[in-house]
Amino acid sequence: MNIVPFVKARTLGKVNVSSVTLAHGGGGKAMKDLIDDVFLAAFGEQACEPLEDQARFELVAFEAHGDRLAFTTDSFVVDPLFFPGGDIGKLAVCGTVNDLAVGGAVPMYLSCAVIIEEGVSIDLLRQVAHSMARTAAQAGVRIVTGDTKVVPRGACDKIFITTTGIGTIPASLALGVEKARAGDTVLVNGLLGDHGAAILCARGDMALDTPIESDCACLHELIGSILAAAPSTRFIRDATRGGIATVLNEIADGSGVSIEIEECMTPIREEVKAFCEVLGLDPLYLANEGKIVVVVPDDEAEAALAAMREHPLGESSARIGRVVSEQERRVTMHTIFGGRRMVDMLVGEQLPRIC
Ligand code: MG
Repeated sequence: MNIVPFVKARTLGKVNVSSVTLAHGGGGKAMKDLIDDVFLAAFGEQACEPLEDQARFELVAFEAHGDRLAFTTDSFVVDPLFFPGGDIGKLAVCGTVNDLAVGGAVPMYLSCAVIIEEGVSIDLLRQVAHSMARTAAQAGVRIVTGDTKVVPRGACDKIFITTTGIGTIPASLALGVEKARAGDTVLVNGLLGDHGAAILCARGDMALDTPIESDCACLHELIGSILAAAPSTRFIRDATRGGIATVLNEIADGSGVSIEIEECMTPIREEVKAFCEVLGLDPLYLANEGKIVVVVPDDEAEAALAAMREHPLGESSARIGRVVSEQERRVTMHTIFGGRRMVDMLVGEQLPRIC
């Protein structure tokens, strides 16, 4: 029998001002009120429990899902904070969930560290915290620990968020960037470049009648169904900053192979193509926040593709190319005009503060 000691519920603090001041970073009552009223109110089913300096877990909770831990961290500085299809809070949860999931891990717990600029409105913070909570709940992960810091005006731009995640990798899985082999098929789960285009539109760089929405989404369920349908899957990576061009080059480099893709089979929205043409951008380098590149052995490609297309986040999945053996580790694209062009690693930064 477990004897649970009776713990008196904590009294939760309340924020009574409309914007963040340096006092909210001071470590005292104002900070406690901010954490209670904005973050714990959004995240915490255990908000009233005593707070410790760390989250604690029974190891059996992890062992139930696999034999290895996956552990990842990412910072989010996107500008603007809100954009069609998402916001910095949703992005921070999805990005970290996806970085766990592409390794085959079942995402479980997240931490959240927020750097806040003095003067940011409490309402805006609440919106971001609720967006994080909503996204985490939908993804079946819990935000279990966190931190807030407040910096003087101008020392950061409104809100920066760092999320760290832990998950468990099932014993049967061993995905790796070094595992692609000549003859393998390269798949993507849908239209490319939407996130990058959405952020640029939201910054007002171009006026469009129908704004392009970010593809920001948690992909662990989609990835779970790919791995079930194609258990010999070699490698999966989310094509975030640097786009699919970067991921394909990482695979070529990691596995010592070349990759050939077909422009006519690479799914890109007409609006994104037009948008890129006007701004002189290459959609292969545009950021995605809900797109993965999947390398599978040819004999499992059909099964993987069918599983992807069955999932709502993979309806426009496509076979975009294949792995070939060549001396050089390079990525090339057969163009719709019958030519062939190199798809190099991105040199420099195409778009700052995209995620
Ligand atoms: Mg990633």
